[in-house]
Amino acid sequence: MTAPRIDIDLDKIEQNSRSLVDRLAARGVRVTGVTKAVLGSPGVGAAMLRGGVHGLGDSRVPNLARLTGLDRPVPRTLIRTPMLSQAARVVDVADVSLNTEAAVLTALDRAASDAGRTHGVVLMVELGDLREGIGVDDVPAAVCAVLGLSSLRLVGLGANLACQNGAVPDDRNMGVLTGLVKDVEALHGIALDVVSGGNSANLSWALSTDDVGRIDDLRLGEAILLGLDPLYRTPVPGLHTDAFTMTAEIIEVAVKPARPWGDRAQAAFGEAPPRTGTGSVHQAILALGRQDVDPVGLRPPEGITMLGMSSDHLVVDLGDHLAVVGDEIDFAVAYGALLRAMTSPFVTSVERAGPPAAPSASRMPRGHPARA
Ligand SMILES: *Cc1c(COP(=O)(O)O)cnc(C)c1O
Repeated sequence: MTAPRIDIDLDKIEQNSRSLVDRLAARGVRVTGVTKAVLGSPGVGAAMLRGGVHGLGDSRVPNLARLTGLDRPVPRTLIRTPMLSQAARVVDVADVSLNTEAAVLTALDRAASDAGRTHGVVLMVELGDLREGIGVDDVPAAVCAVLGLSSLRLVGLGANLACQNGAVPDDRNMGVLTGLVKDVEALHGIALDVVSGGNSANLSWALSTDDVGRIDDLRLGEAILLGLDPLYRTPVPGLHTDAFTMTAEIIEVAVKPARPWGDRAQAAFGEAPPRTGTGSVHQAILALGRQDVDPVGLRPPEGITMLGMSSDHLVVDLGDHLAVVGDEIDFAVAYGALLRAMTSPFVTSVERAGPPAAPSASRMPRGHPARA
C-alpha cells in the first residue's frame, strides 16, 4: 500500500466521541467536535457526529468548506477569529464564529447582510492564557456592539486556555465566564445559547468540578482524536489512544558502525543527534522525513529506536527486529506529528470503519500510545 500514510480508525473516533459526549452530558455540557488536526475531514466529522457531538468546529475556512458535504446539516463553527479579508467566506461556510475584533464584527455583519443571512457570534473572553480574547472589562461594550448589528446574532461567550501559556482551566477562571454570562443576560434581558468553556484541556475540570456554572459547551479535538488530556498529555480513561497510525516504508537496511567518522559539524537540522554505543548498529532508513511529519511525537514500536530525521530520511536502530527493504513500520503519533502528517501533501490518509483488515505478515507492531 502507499506509504507514507496515516491510517485513521473511524470507529475509535466515534467511540471516543460517544464516551466524552455521555460523560459531559451528565454535567450539562455539549461537545463541539474539532476537526482541524484532520483538515476538516468529512469522514472524521461524520464519525464524531455518530458519536453524538452537537456540532463541528474548525480553525480554517477551507476545512469548514470540506465539512459542507455531510449528509445532514450540522452547526459549523469557525474557532479562530476570522480574517477581515475572509468575512464573506466565513459567512458562507460557518454558522457561527468565535470573535474578538470590532472591525471583523462589522465586516461579518455586512457580509451576512449581503448574503441575506444571520451569522452567529461567540465573543471570546481573555481569562489568562494571553492568546485570543476580549478583556473582561471590555466585554459589555463588545456585547452591545454585536447586539447593534442586525445581521449578527449573539450566540454566547467563550474562552480558550492552555494553548499559548498553559493556563489551566479551573473554578476561578470558569467562574469569571459564568459571572459575565449572568451579567450580560440580566443587563440585556436575553438568554445566551452557548457558553463555550474551552478545549480538551478543560476536560478534567469539567468532569471533576462540583459546579460547571453556566459552561455548556466544550470544543474538543485532541481528546476525541488521540484520547489524551493535553494538560499533561495523559490518556483519558476509557478512550482509545491509537485511532491514528503512521506507516512508512524501509528503503535501506544495513549494519553500520555505531559512531560516525571524520570531522563533525552541524547536521541538516542543526546539532547532530548523539550517537552512543560502540560496535555496530542494525540500522534502517525509512522514506519518511520532516516534510512528512514532526519527529517529535512520532513513536516507534517497542525495541526500535529513532536515531534522527532529516527532510526525507528517518534513520532507526532496528535492534533485534528482522526487516528487509520494502517492509513497513507503524508508528504512533502525538498531536504535533499528526497535524504535520495530515498537512503534508506526501502523506496519504486512509480512513477505515468496520472490522480492521488483517495485518500483513511483514508489518511490525505499532508503538506505544502517543505522548508528547
Ligand atoms: C484547537 C482549538 C480547540 C481544540 O483544541 P483541542 O486541544 O484539540 O481540544 C478549541 N478551541 C480553539 C479556539 C482552538 O484553537
